[in-house]
Amino acid sequence: MSKRQNVSGGTCQICHQTRPLNQLLPARLVRGGVLPLIKKQHPDWDEHSLICFTCLNRYRADYVQQLMEKDLGELDELEQEVVKSLQDNALLSENINEEYEQQLTFGDRVADMVAEFGGSWKFIIWFAIFILAWISLNISFLLWQPFDPYPFILLNLILSTLLPFRPPSS
Ligand SMILES: [Zn+2]
Repeated sequence: MSKRQNVSGGTCQICHQTRPLNQLLPARLVRGGVLPLIKKQHPDWDEHSLICFTCLNRYRADYVQQLMEKDLGELDELEQEVVKSLQDNALLSENINEEYEQQLTFGDRVADMVAEFGGSWKFIIWFAIFILAWISLNISFLLWQPFDPYPFILLNLILSTLLPFRPPSS
């Protein structure tokens, strides 16, 4: 139904593993200092590529290590420990999207689904068909007893209850 579900995965162009989309980041969102490090090892990796959080965190730790070495010279044991824990912590935070989705309430999910369906072409087309069918049925009063004769007051009532579900204008 949704685009998010149709395209459920992608490939990290660094490790060539297929991952769910919420574990991949488009290259254009990779920040400054980390980018040259990736490009150095993967020259073909361009702005249309994807990178998984595992690979990205490895490069982030490399980047921090480089910065620290530039400032402090050779890293001592404690500093290496810091770099390592940075890497581990980064791994802990890699599933932010998943955590976010887990904390959505039932109401949030229903609201998302309603907004997604209400804004889709499928809905608009079915809605147009529904209104045309309703009006056609009720103006063919020579054949049937109309259940909502012109000017379609019941239809008007139904439409007005739908107004709160209009997708927000952006
Ligand atoms: Zn990867």
